[in-house]
Amino acid sequence: MEIRFSDALREHVHRMREWGCTEARPAGLEADRNAAPLPVNHPFFEKCLSSGRGRTSWRNADREESAGIPEGRLVRRVVLAEELAYWDRGIGVATPGVGLPESIVIGSGTEEQKERFLGPFVKPERPTWASFALTEPTGGSDTAAFRTRARRDGKHWVLNGAKCFIGNAGRAEWILVQATTDPGGGRAAQRAFFVEKGTPGIGGFRIEKKMGLRAYESTSFSLEECRVPADSLLGGEREEKKGGDAYRETMGNLNFNRAGVAANAIGIARAALDEAVGFARENDLLGNSHVRDRLEEASRKLRSAWLLVLKAAWLADQRRPNIIESSMCKVVAAETAQDIAAAGMEILGPVGGRGDHLIEKLYRDAKAMNIVEGTGQIQRMIVARQLVGLPR
Ligand SMILES: Cc1cc2nc3c(=O)[nH]c(=O)nc-3n(C[C@H](O)[C@H](O)[C@H](O)COP(=O)(O)OP(=O)(O)OC[C@H]3O[C@@H](n4cnc5c(N)ncnc54)[C@H](O)[C@@H]3O)c2cc1C
Repeated sequence: MEIRFSDALREHVHRMREWGCTEARPAGLEADRNAAPLPVNHPFFEKCLSSGRGRTSWRNADREESAGIPEGRLVRRVVLAEELAYWDRGIGVATPGVGLPESIVIGSGTEEQKERFLGPFVKPERPTWASFALTEPTGGSDTAAFRTRARRDGKHWVLNGAKCFIGNAGRAEWILVQATTDPGGGRAAQRAFFVEKGTPGIGGFRIEKKMGLRAYESTSFSLEECRVPADSLLGGEREEKKGGDAYRETMGNLNFNRAGVAANAIGIARAALDEAVGFARENDLLGNSHVRDRLEEASRKLRSAWLLVLKAAWLADQRRPNIIESSMCKVVAAETAQDIAAAGMEILGPVGGRGDHLIEKLYRDAKAMNIVEGTGQIQRMIVARQLVGLPR
């Protein structure tokens, strides 16, 4: 494995850095101080569109594959995810676009579904979002136990249930909703359904309060006799008969996201380390060996965690199994971000604790990285089961 980034990627990172510094960080701080996500009509979102953000990679994916990307498509994505989160991870999610469900729809959607649901994101004329709803008020970790029910009724599916903490759900044009077609059927009965904005039966949208990542909305909603056409089933009618493979495919498409979230955590950790070093330098603390020890420990952990993230992405680019690495890197990167942000808080002392310094925001954002996309405990469980040869 050779770690060498192309000139094109370095240039891309440079552009991301400029945008992050001038646009993303100020927007993220504004949302954090207001303790509320940026409103849909915030000028930041229009600026995102005019700078080419918010577009799907769907039609480029094949082109990129054939053109070849020297460092690999997923390695490139984690490098950019890290840089973006350095400036503000919440803004990364708040930025218009398909977001979380994109890889799922590209991987499992029919051609008609890609055309219909990703098409509007090819060159959107206004800020547009989509959303993926897994988590329910009764729990988010045990994905096989979700209670939201999908019942077939002639040429429709009828959905009933509730979802919570769903990114961008209140502003999404469509939400990909995970539901069970048979409450006793476990994973084999889990399917995903497109529910478009304004469909009768979806409602009760309520934005949750969050300790971190406040720039984007996390929303609860309910589904009551929500009727969607039969072809709203992700993957089309053939999925109905597919048993456990449908669920495995949907979740498999999320495998990359774990490395992406881990890269985000690394970006937060690097920002926290920079704040700590900058503060120590400005306040003549570098002569203190205890402070130097903490900084050394932080940079060592940061570098090791980053190598694990790159390995997970590199394996995926080589089309080699990466379940262990992607779960491991998610655990290690999120814990590293929490450790480094905590060290930063300690080094900054009262300045950090005052509640208006970036380090304090990074400390809150870092904790959320341990929860999203599968908690640390769940990732460790996945690794342990793989090690002893149990099914996931
Ligand atoms: C900022 C933020 C954004 C989010 N965005 C989204 C989103 O866009 N879409 C979405 O669907 N969800 C989203 N979520 C929800 C997130 O995915 C869930 O919070 C997460 O999956 C954990 O579920 P839970 O909170 O219900 O905890 P539970 O599943 O109730 O678990 C509670 C605790 O028990 C632990 N635990 C559970 N089972 C086990 C086990 N078998 N062994 C050991 N420990 C266990 C968990 O690790 C956790 O610490 C978001 C959450 C946050 C905080």
